[in-house]
Amino acid sequence: GRTSANRSLLMLNIALFGPPGAGKGTQSEFLIEKYNLFYISTGDLLRKEIANHTKLGLEAQSIIASGGLVSDEIIVQIIEKTITDNPQSNGFLFDGFPRTYIQAYILEGLMLKLNTSLNCLISLAVPEEVSVERLMNRGMTSGRSDDNESVIRNRLKEYNQKTLPVLQFYRDKGIYVEVDGTAGIDQVHDRITEIIRNELSKSLFNVVLFG
Ligand code: AMP
Repeated sequence: GRTSANRSLLMLNIALFGPPGAGKGTQSEFLIEKYNLFYISTGDLLRKEIANHTKLGLEAQSIIASGGLVSDEIIVQIIEKTITDNPQSNGFLFDGFPRTYIQAYILEGLMLKLNTSLNCLISLAVPEEVSVERLMNRGMTSGRSDDNESVIRNRLKEYNQKTLPVLQFYRDKGIYVEVDGTAGIDQVHDRITEIIRNELSKSLFNVVLFG
């Protein structure tokens, strides 16, 4: 109906993109609060599966430990339920997803099912050496077994080979925005806020025209 169509148009769905250590998690914290978004980090969901000793967690565990990407099948299983269980949220914030072309298509389908779409993909750009340095530092306190140098190198290799090409998908759709991820936390925050403000005024415009 009219109301649910308006609702879908007003949903704010954002994906944060970037190499490990780009600051996606840090920026997510303020974004979910500020815009009341439902946070979906596939990395967090996988670590939860591992902690709960589920079949899925067991399957993913060794791949995560080596710094590889887990299969798209596993990702679909953890993400589909989370999205379809929360259709009434203000919108979704995706952190670390999509990471492959197949995942990008899966996301399209899931958004379509909710009568909505991804507003924009915000890429936090940082050079490889900055990523490595930040992750090594994080490793001293994160307790994450994949925050050590050889695994970090493999995560970056996977990122460059499989994830970086996904940017073209979003460039072609015209919803890709790049932010300098080496800037300070507050500066990155301000830049993202500016991007989202722009997105919100666009969707409000759509509601007025088509709602
Ligand atoms: P993250 O917390 O985003 O750094 O993810 C930690 C690890 O979980 C990655 O190195 C991958 O092994 C796995 N992972 C998380 N998200 C995905 C995804 N969307 N596709 C494939 N593997 C993922």
